[in-house]
Amino acid sequence: MKKQFAVIGLGRFGGSICKSLVDEGMEVLAIDEDEEKVNEFASLVTQAVIADTTDEKALRGLGIKNFDHVIVAIGDNIQASILTTLILVEMDIKHITVKAQNDYHEKVLNRLGADEIIHPERDIGIRIAHSVVSKNVLDY
Ligand code: ATP
Repeated sequence: MKKQFAVIGLGRFGGSICKSLVDEGMEVLAIDEDEEKVNEFASLVTQAVIADTTDEKALRGLGIKNFDHVIVAIGDNIQASILTTLILVEMDIKHITVKAQNDYHEKVLNRLGADEIIHPERDIGIRIAHSVVSKNVLDY
């Protein structure tokens, strides 16, 4: 059976995750509170819905409990990211990945029990620095 993913937040980060998962042949439920974003992804993913994921009832209504993996890609609104993650943890979702905006955000997400916390800007920065250094070492 195909693995079922839900992606919350369709900014550049969440949007690119949706596209890659679809390319990999996965089932993807895309969620955003912004109607325009949802319309943009409607034809690409399995299902796209407008919802405020800080609303527990709305989240339960989407049947999010049945998903194998939920990715929280809400960035700027740290409060919404934290509250959404808390609801998902309390629902016992199998695997929760959350994008952290800063170190404090990451600390709270850790405490809440998110399974995986990513910090894209910081991690890419570290990777690029390593790659630049190793290229320079080879050049000398
Ligand atoms: P990125 O850094 O990935 O480009 P962005 O800056 O475009 O993201 P963010 O503020 O990080 O946008 O938010 C990502 C998406 O999360 C937005 O499309 C926003 O509408 C959505 N979002 C924010 N709060 C909620 C919420 N409570 N429920 C559902 N979606 C939300």
